[in-house]
Amino acid sequence: MKIVTNASEMKNLSITYGKAGRSLGLVPTMGALHDGHVSLITTAREHCDIVVTSIFVNPLQFAPSEDFAKYPRPFDKDCATAEKAGCDVVFAPDAKEMYPTGYSTFVDVETITSYLCGANRPGHFKGVATVVLKLFNVVSPQVAVFGQKDAQQCLVIRRMVRDLNCSVRLVFAPTVREKDGLAMSSRNSYLSSDERGQAVFIYKGICAAVSLYGGGERNGAALQGTIAGALSGAPLLSVEYVEIVDMDTVSPVSVLGAPALAAIAVRTKQTKTRLIDNAVLGGTF
Ligand code: AMP
Repeated sequence: MKIVTNASEMKNLSITYGKAGRSLGLVPTMGALHDGHVSLITTAREHCDIVVTSIFVNPLQFAPSEDFAKYPRPFDKDCATAEKAGCDVVFAPDAKEMYPTGYSTFVDVETITSYLCGANRPGHFKGVATVVLKLFNVVSPQVAVFGQKDAQQCLVIRRMVRDLNCSVRLVFAPTVREKDGLAMSSRNSYLSSDERGQAVFIYKGICAAVSLYGGGERNGAALQGTIAGALSGAPLLSVEYVEIVDMDTVSPVSVLGAPALAAIAVRTKQTKTRLIDNAVLGGTF
């Protein structure tokens, strides 16, 4: 497995693979790889000849108050995990490589970023869209794989790809969970053991909504209420949002007539860890 830190070198490597007729799949990550990331690499493998995993803790998508400095960066372990999963190239630029002095160009996907995580993390999706477009331009993948766990991110990237005519096919892979249902996340390592015990209530909320929807409930407030009810069993979780939103506009839906996203964000009270999860009701991404 190759490790590339320089953007020009990565570009040249992509051109070389392209000339040899080999298709490229990109899996953008911030590292601290777990089985969720591994499943994205496995999915990319199924679609492409060469899999590039980017590892870059993108400063642009963190607010000053967030966990950029303490975000885990176990680089050697990540490379071993990526290689074992079938990755061919790790692209791991540093911040100066991605944002040289005088950097001043940003991608702002408007409107759909004013809801959910976008409302609670101002500037976050501008950072995400900017870095993802840069990664597309450096790697020129035919396919890029993202996890459904970050549902709004999927919708934002899909909109950006459509709006800016990006030449990449998007694949959204299902959320990989711990045995008790908690969605795997690099941030789970921040949790205290009490918080970890209660974090399963997020999944219980998701399951409650899926089950109520399955029973025929189409009222957004009722579906929202059942999630809130499940979360009330976890006093160490403070709810940031529980929303039932349209898959296209990301705005709240009062009566479901089309597939909708049930989305949750909580912050834990002891370690202030932010956790998100979701399910699509009545459809897929
Ligand atoms: P991150 O490193 O957390 O920025 O995530 C990189 C990619 O992995 C994103 O596309 C995430 O949606 C995806 N991802 C993170 N956690 C999971 C999970 N539990 N299951 C599937 N994909 C995931």
